[in-house]
Amino acid sequence: MAYSYEAPVSQSLFDRASVVTPGGVNSPVRAFRAVGGTPRFMVSGTGPYLTDADGREYVDLVCSWGPMILGHSHPEVIAAVQEAVARGTSFGTPGEGEVALAEEIVARIEPVEQVRLVSSGTEATMSAIRLARGFTGRAKVVKFAGCYHGHVDALLAAAGSGLATFGLPDTPGVTGATAGDTVVLPYNDLDAVRAAFAAHPGEIACVITEASPGNMGVVPPADGFNAGLKELCAADGALYISDEVMTGFRTSKAGWYGVDGVRPDLMTFGKVMGGGFPAAAFGGRADVMAHLAPAGPVYQAGTLSGNPVATAAGLAQLRLLDDAAYAKIDAVSAELRTLVGDALTKEGVAHTVSSASNMFSVFFTDRPVRNYEDVKQQEAFRFTAFFHAMLEQGVYLPPSAFESWFVSTAHDERAIERVAAALPAAARAASEATA
Ligand code: PLP
Repeated sequence: MAYSYEAPVSQSLFDRASVVTPGGVNSPVRAFRAVGGTPRFMVSGTGPYLTDADGREYVDLVCSWGPMILGHSHPEVIAAVQEAVARGTSFGTPGEGEVALAEEIVARIEPVEQVRLVSSGTEATMSAIRLARGFTGRAKVVKFAGCYHGHVDALLAAAGSGLATFGLPDTPGVTGATAGDTVVLPYNDLDAVRAAFAAHPGEIACVITEASPGNMGVVPPADGFNAGLKELCAADGALYISDEVMTGFRTSKAGWYGVDGVRPDLMTFGKVMGGGFPAAAFGGRADVMAHLAPAGPVYQAGTLSGNPVATAAGLAQLRLLDDAAYAKIDAVSAELRTLVGDALTKEGVAHTVSSASNMFSVFFTDRPVRNYEDVKQQEAFRFTAFFHAMLEQGVYLPPSAFESWFVSTAHDERAIERVAAALPAAARAASEATA
């Protein structure tokens, strides 16, 4: 597919990057492989806008994949970072900022009695699983196809459909031994979970699930699914781990827990709680967390865990996220969902706007979407055309049909109007696209 617009500075940066970095990027989805074209190298962000190296401005509907929930360069977050940086960037000792951030998390999310700070969502889920295994003395981990929990070896296994399928390593470098204790099940299918517990009684350490999945696009849990997981885990003595790296502090003040109220044994967080810096966490039941070193025998550590600049940014961001902020984000999301849906309907494009609180994505199918297999049925080639038409008109969407879109408190009427103005041409492009 040829694109009628160019990005010469981004292209030359990408050429340079491709010499020194595999694929030219430091995280694969940034490379635009799913949609083609030149990835935009961004140089600055203000409020709902990003500016690329060619000087073009975009309404940002990715928000750094979730963290920038107040928009870019929020003055109070920047001030907190500047104040922290001026005092030094890392001490390798405890500091008050990490205590305050942990207190804020514990105060917001009732099932979190204790929390350990780490630097990425991947570290959080990796550590939570180790802790679950250490606590239960069991090896197996249940996860769901289409749920992403970071690039943890044991969690990269994603199997096809089938009951209690043993995960096969689907990336080179993950050994059969590592993936062999992972059981991959279809999402939203409690019977499959029941069957897995029946097949492996007393062997499953934990079930880990995205609290409400956003990594196959937004596919919310069916009514009773999370509660059913919790019940099945409790009956077998396994732990229920809710991965809130994406939903945490975004879908409500208390994340997805604030929406469905199902009480996990352990939870993982990242993205929003770092205010755009590498900060993440896992936490939950105090009796489980007590098994973590140095209180207990399960080892876990990090040179930059609880970094003073990252915790200052995260704390400043969380303190600004009050009820009014969530009401604003929910309203922006609702308005955009309506605009996108109407534009596609007008052009006769089969689609589903799928949402979970203020997270949403657009699937190019009108069939029900309940799991990864359903998501894969969509006409993703229409998204490619839609994406590029939006990009050309200055709207930055996630460069994949299998991702959530994210909005912020900074998305004002002007930004929304710019999206609205771009939608008719993009919907037309989607309608005219061919596979
Ligand atoms: N868990 C979920 C639900 C995520 O969405 C992500 C990242 O997108 C991760 C874990 C991994 O987080 P990180 O990219 O910070 O390692």
